[in-house]
Amino acid sequence: MTVTCADCGATQAIPDLPAGGTAECHRCDRLLARRSATGNAIAFACAIAVVILLPFAAFLPLMGSTIRNIVFGESRLVTSVPVIYSEVWFPFAFGFLFFALLFPWVRALLEVIVLSGWHVWQRGRLFRWAEELRIWSMTEVVVIAGLIAYFRAGISATVGVQTGALCYIAVALFTWIGDHALDRRGVWNSILPDTTEYPRRHYASCDSCELAAMARRSGDPCPRCGSRLDRPVGPRFVPAAAAVAAALPLCIPAFSAAIMVNNNLAGVLEHTILGTVQFLADRGYWQYGVVVLLAGVALPIVELVGMIWLLARVRFPETHGLVRRTRVYRVLHRLVHWPMVIPFIAALAAPIIKFHGIDEIVAGPAATPLFAIVALLMLAVRLFEPKLMWKTAGVPAS
Ligand SMILES: [Zn+2]
Ligand SMILES: [Zn+2]
Repeated sequence: MTVTCADCGATQAIPDLPAGGTAECHRCDRLLARRSATGNAIAFACAIAVVILLPFAAFLPLMGSTIRNIVFGESRLVTSVPVIYSEVWFPFAFGFLFFALLFPWVRALLEVIVLSGWHVWQRGRLFRWAEELRIWSMTEVVVIAGLIAYFRAGISATVGVQTGALCYIAVALFTWIGDHALDRRGVWNSILPDTTEYPRRHYASCDSCELAAMARRSGDPCPRCGSRLDRPVGPRFVPAAAAVAAALPLCIPAFSAAIMVNNNLAGVLEHTILGTVQFLADRGYWQYGVVVLLAGVALPIVELVGMIWLLARVRFPETHGLVRRTRVYRVLHRLVHWPMVIPFIAALAAPIIKFHGIDEIVAGPAATPLFAIVALLMLAVRLFEPKLMWKTAGVPAS
C-alpha cells in the first residue's frame, strides 16, 4: 500500500507486513506501520477497562493520612481539583481535571467506539481525535507524581494507599498496554483502505492518517479522517515560536519561587524545586529526588533548547542532519509532558496533608508558572511540524 509519511512528507509504498512486522519511513525512520499478531483485541479490552475503571479511580478515596491517629485526612482525585482551585490559579485546576481524568477517559471511550467495529458515522474523525488526545492524556505522569507525593506526605504523617489509587494505577497500566498493542495502520485501513497504486506521481495526502488520496486535490477534506489534505504547515511556525518565547520568561518565577509550602508547628517551610530535591534526599528518598531533578529541571531545559534549535533550523534551513533533527523532534514530542509531574506532586500532596494549624502542605506560587511552561511547551511541540524543516530545506516530496 502507498502512504505519505507525516513527519517528512515522503510518499512511499510499503509491503504487506507479516504478523509482528514493522515498516519505517525510508527517509526519516518514522514508524509507518506495525502489524500486531493478535489484531486489536488487546487494545479494545484495555480501552473498555479504562472507561469502566477511571470513574472509580476519580471518585473513590485515593490516600488516607493520619498523625498519630489523632487527626485524619483523606483525599480523592476529584477533590484535588477544588483544592488547587482554592490555592493557586484556576487554569491549573482545570488542567489537572482534563489531563488526569477527562482526556484519558474520553480517549478510551473514542477507542472503544472505533475498535468495536460498529459502523458509526465519522469513525475516522473519532479515531483522529483519539490519537490527538494521546499527548494530552497523562495517566502515567499522575502515577509517578502520586508515588512521590506519597513519600513526601509520608515525611509529615502516616499515609495509606486506598482503592482509588489502585484503580488509577490499573488505568495507567491499561492505557500503556493498549497504546503499545494498538495497530494504528490496521484501524485506518478498516475505516478506508490505503491506496494500492504504486507511487509514481504526487498525491494530495493527509498528515493525520497518512492517506495518499487517489482522486482528490490539495485542500479537500481527507476522505478517511476529515482533516485537510496537503494542509499548509507554514502558518504554524509563528504560533509555535510564540509559545516557546512565552515560556522563557516564566522560568524565573518557576525556579526561584516555592513549589510547595509546608505550614507546621515548627514554622513555615518553603521549598523551591531544587529545595524539594534536597528535602527528599535529606530524608533518605534520594531516588525520588533524582526523578524530581530530571523531570522538573533537566527536561524543561532540554525541551526549551531543543525547540529553539528546531525552530531556528526552519528559519535557517540546512539539508544536512534533517533525519537527526526529525528524530530529536520525536523524542521531544514523547517526553514533553513529563515535567508536569512536578506541579502534579504539589496538587496531589496538598489534599493529603491538610491538618489546619498542625501540618499543612499548600501548592506554592511556583506551581502555576511551571504548569504554564509545560503547557506552552506542549503546545509548541504540537504546533511544530518536522515537515517544515524538510520543506524549507527544499527536499522534494518523494
Ligand atoms: Zn518520513
Ligand atoms: Zn486523513
